[in-house]
Amino acid sequence: MRPTSPAADASIPARVLRSARPSGTRVAVGPVEIGGSAFVVAAGPCAVESAAQTEEVAEAVAAAGAHLLRGGVFKPRTSPYAFQGLGEPGLSILGRSGGRHGLPVVAEVLETSQLASMIDHVDVLQVGARNMQNFALLRALGKVRRPVLLKRGFAATVEEWLLAAEYLLDGGNTQVILCERGIRTFETATRNTLDLASVALVKQRSHLPVLVDPSHATGLRELVIPMALASAAAGADGLLVEVHAKPEEALCDGRQALTPELFAELMQRLPAVLQSVGRSLHPPASSAPAVRAISP
Ligand code: PEP
Ligand code: MN
Repeated sequence: MRPTSPAADASIPARVLRSARPSGTRVAVGPVEIGGSAFVVAAGPCAVESAAQTEEVAEAVAAAGAHLLRGGVFKPRTSPYAFQGLGEPGLSILGRSGGRHGLPVVAEVLETSQLASMIDHVDVLQVGARNMQNFALLRALGKVRRPVLLKRGFAATVEEWLLAAEYLLDGGNTQVILCERGIRTFETATRNTLDLASVALVKQRSHLPVLVDPSHATGLRELVIPMALASAAAGADGLLVEVHAKPEEALCDGRQALTPELFAELMQRLPAVLQSVGRSLHPPASSAPAVRAISP
């Protein structure tokens, strides 16, 4: 694909552009529809640390009305000495907790070799910011019949982000969800800078659903609810939020994790904001039957 400027939409032979599907893409994840008029919330720990920790969070977020359970099993950590995730054993922990509470699960895939084991346990495959331009991984995920959540790279332009999504669509996977998670700027007071303008822009330029991750975008628990509400007002299709029952004991990203109480507060405050922009909260996933039979 030849390089183009963001304004030159017409010259990009792109499946990702709204003109390719003006009515918008809706991604079905079991009973949950992402990209429709209803707003969807994926919540859970940064990392699956143990069965008990995952279950405690899953129970809390399901009770508060979350639609999907997130949890990292293979963790991309800046330091090689930091907790790298439980690996494969974490997949069944996550899958079982999701199944128990009727929540489809989201987990990050770091490399192609992990796909075979993930496909049995994971409903949405997340591509993290660090891997947004891992073209071998994108090509492999283009061949998979499973929704992919594509996070924006922290130094990626909107055009690069959309072209990364284009790899998935070009490979034949139409079930793509974008996720803005903050970009790196000169600002150091927050972990990243939440680029909400990109959310409104991408909603106009592309037919794909867009989630916002206010946890990685800010790095600070006290900013997560305000930015989550702002995301809803800006036209996002949903959120990806980190929640931990004991954030001070979290093995990863505790400083940005909401407690179950704060998560419940967020879920209670979202409907008023959504109503002001003509949307509503998706009905709880747990009110519907479990998505896939996940073996006990
Ligand atoms: C995550 O969601 O846990 C994660 C690692 O996010 P990002 O790739 O956006 O840093
Ligand atoms: Mn995290």
